[in-house]
Amino acid sequence: MSQERSEAVVLRGVDFSETSRIVTLLLPARGRMACLAKGARRKKSAFGGALDTLNRIEAIYYWRDGREVQQLGEASILDAYGGIKASLEKSAFSSFPLEVAYRVAHENEPSQELFSTLVHGLESLERWDRSPQAHACWQVVQLLITAGFEPTLEVCVDCGRPVSGAAGFAYRGGVTCDGCAGDRRLTARELDDMRALAGSRASCPRIEPMPSLFKLLRAYASQQLETDFRSARVIEEILGL
Ligand SMILES: [Zn+2]
Repeated sequence: MSQERSEAVVLRGVDFSETSRIVTLLLPARGRMACLAKGARRKKSAFGGALDTLNRIEAIYYWRDGREVQQLGEASILDAYGGIKASLEKSAFSSFPLEVAYRVAHENEPSQELFSTLVHGLESLERWDRSPQAHACWQVVQLLITAGFEPTLEVCVDCGRPVSGAAGFAYRGGVTCDGCAGDRRLTARELDDMRALAGSRASCPRIEPMPSLFKLLRAYASQQLETDFRSARVIEEILGL
């Protein structure tokens, strides 16, 4: 067993026993890692609020090869993203990219780029003063691209013909031309926005929120990663998208 120290983002947490919690972290060098935080539910726990979902922390943990749940020793907050948590809307929308990061991350696999993309997105959302919905779409697209699930947006995913203007979209891979079958129609504006979201690596493009695009991304991510994105469904229900 070795003691390691790393920056990490808290992706999720569940109570474990009367006094402890199991948190899932994303680490640059270790990817997704489940950790037992002993005593984290006690009132005077040394973990304090450090293990809240979304937090960027410095974690000290004890690593043992082959173990499903590692042991957390200490955690201190590097950034609690107060600007996200203070806004109900930002907070709600941030749960979708966070779940995407959870799904695309692998255990014990170097994930520097994924980690950077997630942290960059959270820092951007913290300062963002426009639509959190559009921002969530951008974060999700960027995480998917980083993880190798980039949608095809320039040529038809089936026949390779260039696609422009109104087109179709197939959740198995991206845009479709008029001659090939997609799962839904894509308006010229939706196609433009998708291209803007995918093409802008450094910052969220200033697009207007579009519930249809949010739903398209949920369906695309769901099919690509073979999972139902509960966070996105909850957002759609709560905010009536
Ligand atoms: Zn085609």
